[in-house]
Amino acid sequence: MPIGNGKCQSFQGVTNFLFRKEIFDMAYVISDGCISCGSCAGQCPVSAISQGDTQFNIDPDTCIDCGSCAAQCPVSAISQG
Ligand code: SF4
Ligand code: SF4
Repeated sequence: MPIGNGKCQSFQGVTNFLFRKEIFDMAYVISDGCISCGSCAGQCPVSAISQGDTQFNIDPDTCIDCGSCAAQCPVSAISQG
């Protein structure tokens, strides 16, 4: 099987993604500037955002780094970690 065919390239893409996720985990985080409006939670496609005692929080193991929540926050309290 020649190197560089579609299957090899797809495999390389998957391994590159897993490497980046493992080594450079860039899950989004919520700062203490959060005013607990709740807007971000409804935007998350994987339900990674939940309400804590004092602010909303993002589960880094669930977050897929899509950025939807950051765009929604009215006080810019969400950023890439
Ligand atoms: S970046 Fe995307 S997946 Fe992560 S918490 Fe925000 S909306 Fe959810
Ligand atoms: S949108 Fe911003 S202020 Fe509102 S709950 Fe989410 S992080 Fe907090």
